[in-house]
Amino acid sequence: MRKKTLQELVRPNIWALSPYSSARNEYSGTEANVFLDANESPYNQPLNRYPDPLQRQVKSMLAKIKGVEPEQIFLGNGSDEAIDLIYRCFTRPGIDNVVAIEPTYGMYKVCADINEVEYRPVKLDDHFQMSADQMMAACDNYTKVIWICSPNNPTGNLIDRDEIEKLLEDFNGIVVIDEAYSDFSGKPAFRQEINRNDHLIVLNTMSKAWGGAAIRMGMAFAQKEIIDIFNKVKYPYNVNLLTQEKAIEMLQMRFEVDKWVKSILIERSRMISSFKLLPICKEVFPTDANFFLARMTDAQKIYDYLIEHGIIVRNRSRVTFCENCLRVTIGNKSENSQLLAALRQY
Ligand SMILES: *Cc1c(COP(=O)(O)O)cnc(C)c1O
Repeated sequence: MRKKTLQELVRPNIWALSPYSSARNEYSGTEANVFLDANESPYNQPLNRYPDPLQRQVKSMLAKIKGVEPEQIFLGNGSDEAIDLIYRCFTRPGIDNVVAIEPTYGMYKVCADINEVEYRPVKLDDHFQMSADQMMAACDNYTKVIWICSPNNPTGNLIDRDEIEKLLEDFNGIVVIDEAYSDFSGKPAFRQEINRNDHLIVLNTMSKAWGGAAIRMGMAFAQKEIIDIFNKVKYPYNVNLLTQEKAIEMLQMRFEVDKWVKSILIERSRMISSFKLLPICKEVFPTDANFFLARMTDAQKIYDYLIEHGIIVRNRSRVTFCENCLRVTIGNKSENSQLLAALRQY
């Protein structure tokens, strides 16, 4: 199928937008030592200065770790900023629509509702797998974006690679693949495919494997033309200085993070085998993430019982296909053991 051009996909007002030009955009050099251009205070250093609007230092480190170019990275206040930005850049309220797998991460739908964009969920099959043909059947000429989450939340499984590739070939608009959990999967990540797909956006985050949910830093990878549009629309100083500095510190701990991931994977195997032995657990679904979905005899009662014991898991019972399912995050050895001990006494 003929792909739409970027100009056909981007909202006309966004395509035509002249962005706000901040002081730090107009002068971004490092030679000067007297800064009287941004109405900042000369006191309270270093917090008196606006941060780099394009987060160059963070991006140059991330580029090496992620195997992309710095110009192919957008950084935001969590992945949630990137999700909302995708709606604001590509979808016209009340006119365009998006298609997404179901069940999946709730923010795609919430942001669709906030932006007044029709959201078309397409149910996964019994194995929580996606059919590219069914996704295509839900699209029309106003479908601008398709949302895929892989490994998927709350189901935990990777979406079949061949089906994703088929969709990348067949769909004429933007395909977003949210890889928030890809560090736990051991399979090749789709961000490596952005050079081959000019309509592909891949999302990553510091919130999961990197252990940095508190600093709020999410990222989107795509070809430069798409990132340039995001940079035009985003708030000028969307990632604050403290976050940028902390991110730089954290990105130097890469090998520590690899160890954390390994420990979590070991604990994941232990938790899954232990859950399978619990009489109150009917089924544990395959997972490639740092959590798993388990079908229980009575999810609500077990959830309430765990709360009484000071242990919080996620009750996903009301999600499509997840009746009586709990979503359990893998914690450290002691936390996991406390959960198992409580469940064994249920
Ligand atoms: C946790 C999660 C994120 C991360 O969101 P942040 O805003 O970066 O913390 C993104 N996508 C999915 C599917 C998630 O489960």
